[in-house]
Amino acid sequence: MERRYSDLVIEVTRRCNQVCKDFCMRGPQQNLDISYDDIDLFLDLKRNNYKQVSLLFFSGGEPTLNPGAIHYCIDKIIGEKLPIYSVGLFTNGLIYSDSIVEDFNRYNEYFQEYILPEMTKLPAEIVRQSSLKGSFVTFSDDQYHLPISQEVIQLYLENGYGIKFDCTGDHSVEKDNLLKSGYSKQGHELLLEDNCIRMFGDSVIDTIYLTAKGNLSCYGDGSYEFIDSVSKDYPVSRYTLEQFCLANLSASSRDYDDSDRKSFVFFKKR
Ligand code: SF4
Repeated sequence: MERRYSDLVIEVTRRCNQVCKDFCMRGPQQNLDISYDDIDLFLDLKRNNYKQVSLLFFSGGEPTLNPGAIHYCIDKIIGEKLPIYSVGLFTNGLIYSDSIVEDFNRYNEYFQEYILPEMTKLPAEIVRQSSLKGSFVTFSDDQYHLPISQEVIQLYLENGYGIKFDCTGDHSVEKDNLLKSGYSKQGHELLLEDNCIRMFGDSVIDTIYLTAKGNLSCYGDGSYEFIDSVSKDYPVSRYTLEQFCLANLSASSRDYDDSDRKSFVFFKKR
């Protein structure tokens, strides 16, 4: 069956230019970048048989340290006309990447010319619930990161046309939102039993995360150690997205036939 995916995440690098002690859920950085072969397998349209990805998110580490992988993905999306309906990343705002701004600008042209017309063919409910917004960059300006360079922000604002910019802000990182993982000593623990994927009809509503090691995980958060432990048996070279979902299916998943389409709604993520 052709699927709609809510969130696909690519961990483009495990390198970072900060050490957010007592906060970072990842733990110590690693000198590791995603391989382009793994990106190809993850985004391969025929192999994975998808008709929509609401969001492709670039994660890290600090994603601006590997603009090459992001450039490769954007080239692929545009060149192969992939049905990816928005792209984004979080950055600690210390590096201005001309390459990423240029790529996100190019993606926005593609979004205007190709994705928006495609959206008119979708059921209205799916359009309303999807995070369809072109490209976006969110700056982590919370109290745990080093102050963002105003010069860097200015360059992003001046050169990014159509890119949506946002800031996390201090209040968004309350104790309950922290994970007790990596460097973080407070917050909540990730539970192994929550490591599953919910599918409803043709839609997959949980995140599928591709680690920089080339493995698939249902968890995008947590320490590298934790993510590696839950993903090590699912290399993207052996599992298509569909096979991965079926191997990690949540008990609450349900199959709908087309007659139920009218009552279909996107479900909130965990
Ligand atoms: S929280 Fe982000 S910026 Fe801070 S050390 Fe971890 S990965 Fe790097």
